[in-house]
Amino acid sequence: MRVPIIAGNWKMNKDVQEAVSFVNQIKEKLPPADELETALAAPTLCLVPMVKAAGDSPLKIMAENCYYKDKGAYTGETSPYALYQAGIHHVILGHSERRTYFGETDDLINKKVKAALKNGLCPIVCCDDTMGRRIAGKKVHWVVSRILADLHGLSNDEICHVTIAYEPSWAIGTGESADPAQAAEGCYLIRQTISDMYGDEVANDVRILYGGSVTTANINALMDKSDIDGVLVGTASLDAETFLRLVHH
Ligand code: 13P
Repeated sequence: MRVPIIAGNWKMNKDVQEAVSFVNQIKEKLPPADELETALAAPTLCLVPMVKAAGDSPLKIMAENCYYKDKGAYTGETSPYALYQAGIHHVILGHSERRTYFGETDDLINKKVKAALKNGLCPIVCCDDTMGRRIAGKKVHWVVSRILADLHGLSNDEICHVTIAYEPSWAIGTGESADPAQAAEGCYLIRQTISDMYGDEVANDVRILYGGSVTTANINALMDKSDIDGVLVGTASLDAETFLRLVHH
């Protein structure tokens, strides 16, 4: 059975004090992790204080990015090895903002995914879509080729530790969520691709999330779809009360 996930992605929002206070506000009010997983991705500076604040609560703290080398002369980068040692066991990779503003390519993301897994981190790999392709009706090809490239060369054992997030860039931060049927179709196509690559058994175990303008108003309709195993939430995850309402949708 695939345990559903409600994950926040704070992006470059919140300072350390705000982050810790948020965790303290929510940590006693979360369901057990075997019923529903809860996670927050936060700016690097906030991660260690958040892990401490979360203590043994079910809340998972995630990095928003990491590099593909464990250490060395890579000024300004974050080591996946050091993340793991600091108690951060999850990382978002390939978010569309990383691809758009920081020029991350599928090849780089593939290296990062492999490095994260090698160090024991579970990656959430984001898979974009574009308005242009959606209008042109070519969404299928875009989604599938991304997944093939980003996950290239992973073993069956490795893919089981990967979560995928279908995040059409036109839905991110725009207030224009994909409707539940569109979101489910994207997730379904990704699962079909995983099935082609790794077989049905693996595809049935891999969790696939939807992200893009998820709110308390649309979460129920999205989570009702059998191909959507959870959500990756930006803006609506920034307020503790709203995040709790998403968790207890
Ligand atoms: P919004 O929820 O603000 O659209 O952001 C989604 C996102 O980018 C999650 O990774």
